[in-house]
Amino acid sequence: MRRFDLALPNSVDDCLKILAERGPQAKLLAGGTDLLPQMKNGVLKPALVVDLSGISRVRQVQGSNGQGLRIGAAVTARELEVSPAVRGAYLSIAESAAMVGSLQVRNLATVGGNLCNAAPSADMAPPLVALEAQAVIAGPGGERRVPMADFFTGVRKTVLAPNEMLVELVVPAPGAHSGGQYLRHTPRRELDIAVVGVASQLTLANGVCAKARIALAAVAPVPLRATAAEQSLEGQPVTPERIARAAELAVDVARPISDQRGSAEFRRHLVRVLTRRTLTTALARASL
Ligand SMILES: Cc1cc2nc3c(=O)[nH]c(=O)nc-3n(C[C@H](O)[C@H](O)[C@H](O)COP(=O)(O)OP(=O)(O)OC[C@H]3O[C@@H](n4cnc5c(N)ncnc54)[C@H](O)[C@@H]3O)c2cc1C
Repeated sequence: MRRFDLALPNSVDDCLKILAERGPQAKLLAGGTDLLPQMKNGVLKPALVVDLSGISRVRQVQGSNGQGLRIGAAVTARELEVSPAVRGAYLSIAESAAMVGSLQVRNLATVGGNLCNAAPSADMAPPLVALEAQAVIAGPGGERRVPMADFFTGVRKTVLAPNEMLVELVVPAPGAHSGGQYLRHTPRRELDIAVVGVASQLTLANGVCAKARIALAAVAPVPLRATAAEQSLEGQPVTPERIARAAELAVDVARPISDQRGSAEFRRHLVRVLTRRTLTTALARASL
């Protein structure tokens, strides 16, 4: 590990001042489960590490009935996994958090770190895309909001500038008769990354699908929405046949690569299976 300076800001403003001075040489540290291995193996060599643990605003989950959810960027996967506010109307977020690493990893790993590291396989991204969350980003000019679907720009790339930080995620309340699920496939049960991940969210009204959202992970450089599949469901009663058709349309949007973890063909098969399964569960949960 190379030597680096450490800064411990205790507010978002203090953090932004540090980034304004040394942004291009700095890396923010949340749980460190992505950053520290990358520093140890020399992929990243920041001269300054800015530890976010002293900033209370980024460590809170706030949710109220029907008003939506605000998740601080430095909230851990474990906190999301067990939070009653998250497990209620936003169960797919808790499900994705529960799949990250092991219990020890989840006690450190944060949602902001997962998103800002921007691995195509990041588990916490698809449910946030499917729930139409917005990233609240603070920078020198104030705060801006970016829909999660537009947050990622490439493998390990996001819309964040070096002088900006992710502060929180704002998740709109899905409303009544809405349900979602996140599933992924991994060859091993734990401590493995998604070969494919799929999040689905369905909202029903008067017996038909009022809104469908389907987000895919690990089949493109960035998480993808399967919009044609979504549109095939909206305005219709959700039947097994329509779910099967939506799963086929989701396959069409996937752009998977072949690597040591799975062939492109296997990944397309997984998109079909996981889309069908998550839509079926989302329908059941929305019907409760
Ligand atoms: C053994 C092991 C198993 C893992 N398993 C999984 C898995 O199953 N699924 C999965 O998705 N991931 C997995 N990971 C990856 C990792 O744990 C997650 O991506 C985790 O959520 C990263 O969060 P962190 O807080 O540790 O991020 P950090 O390592 O602290 O930061 C990651 C990156 O994000 C930046 N960053 C952090 N917070 C902010 C912010 N607020 N604003 C701007 N930039 C920020 C950092 O500068 C850094 O570049 C695993 C890692 C390990 C070591």
